[in-house]
Amino acid sequence: MEFKQEDAVKLTEWYEKNHRDLPWRDTGDPYHVWISEIMLQQTRIEAVIVKYQIFVHELPDIASLAAVQDDRLMRLWEGLGYYSRARNLKKCAQVLVKDYGGKLPENYEELVRLPGIGPYTAGAVASIAYGKPVPAVDGNVLRILARLFLTESDIKDPHTKDALQETLTPAYASEQIRAGAFNQGLMELGQLICVPNGAPRCTECPLAESCLAYRENRTGDIPFRSKPNKRKCEERTLVIVRDEKRFVIRKRDDAGLLAGLYEFPGIGKHCDPQELRTMLALYIPEIQRLHRLPDAKHIFSHIEWHMQAYEVLVDDIRSLSLPENCIALTKEEMASAAIPSAFRTYIDYYRLRSY
Ligand code: SF4
Repeated sequence: MEFKQEDAVKLTEWYEKNHRDLPWRDTGDPYHVWISEIMLQQTRIEAVIVKYQIFVHELPDIASLAAVQDDRLMRLWEGLGYYSRARNLKKCAQVLVKDYGGKLPENYEELVRLPGIGPYTAGAVASIAYGKPVPAVDGNVLRILARLFLTESDIKDPHTKDALQETLTPAYASEQIRAGAFNQGLMELGQLICVPNGAPRCTECPLAESCLAYRENRTGDIPFRSKPNKRKCEERTLVIVRDEKRFVIRKRDDAGLLAGLYEFPGIGKHCDPQELRTMLALYIPEIQRLHRLPDAKHIFSHIEWHMQAYEVLVDDIRSLSLPENCIALTKEEMASAAIPSAFRTYIDYYRLRSY
C-alpha cells in the first residue's frame, strides 16, 4: 500500500488550480499557519474565518499572544469551543518567547514537543510554512487514504492510522512535490470532494483512477469507524441573580470543562423554586422575585447539559456577600466578559451581546 508519486503530482496540480482562497493560505507565515490549524481543529471553516482574522489582527505575533490577558484571550476565542486550545496557544507562545527567540522552530521533532502541538499541527506547520517533507494527517486525510486503499479496519485504531500515514512516505520523496501544497491538497480534497457520510464526488476527484473504494463501489461503508461512547447527560440549574443594573457571574475552576471562563452560577441538578430559595438563603436574604426562564440544552463532545434556569431579582446586588469566585457586572460589562456559548440562550434572553 503506497501513495503513488504520479497521484501526488495529480493531487498537487489539482490543489494549485482548485483551492479556496482562505485568509491564512499562501501567507507563508508560520504564526498564521499555526493559529489557523489550531482553530480549524474541531471547528467548521466558516466559523473560523472571521474569528481568525480578528485574532491575528488583535494578536499579530507570538510575542503579543504570549503577553495577552487570559480574559481577552478567552473573549477572542469565544464561539470556537474547546477553550483549552486557546490556553495551550498562549502557553506555547510563552515557551517560544523564552526558549526559541519568539519563533516557531522549523523541525517537526521540535514542534511536536511544544505545548498543544500534536503530530498533525507539527506536520502542517513544518510542511506548509517551512516546506519540510513530513505528513499532516487528520480525519479528512485518513478518510481519503482509507478509501483509496479500501482499508476495512477501524479508522480510530492507532495501528490503522499509522499504517495509512505510512503510505504517504513515497510521495514526499518526489522532487516534483512541494510538501506544503501536497498536504494542503489532501486536506482540501477531504473537505471538498472526498467528503464523509458516503457522498464523495468521485467523478471530480484527481485520485479516482487509483481509488479502490470508488472502483468497488464501497465509498458508502469506507472508512469503517467503531461507534463512539454515548454522551453523558448532566442536569443543571442556572441561577441568574440580577438587580436593575447588574448580573452576578462566577469564574469556573482553572481546570476541566470551560476552565477559567465565566458562567451564570449553577447547581448540578434540577430543582424546584422552594428548594432553590432554601439554598440561596445563605447569600440572598431577600429575593424580590424568582421566576423560571426558558430551558436550554448545550452539547459538548462527551457531555450534554440540560439546563433549567431561574431569574432571581434582588434590590441591590452590591449589598450581597457573594462567594469569592463571583462578581457583579453591569449589562455593558457583560458584553465583553468571556462567557462561553453554552449560555447563549440566556445571553440572548437578556440581549447582553450582539453576535
Ligand atoms: S475517488 Fe472518491 S472515494 Fe476515492 S479518494 Fe476520490 S473522492 Fe474519495
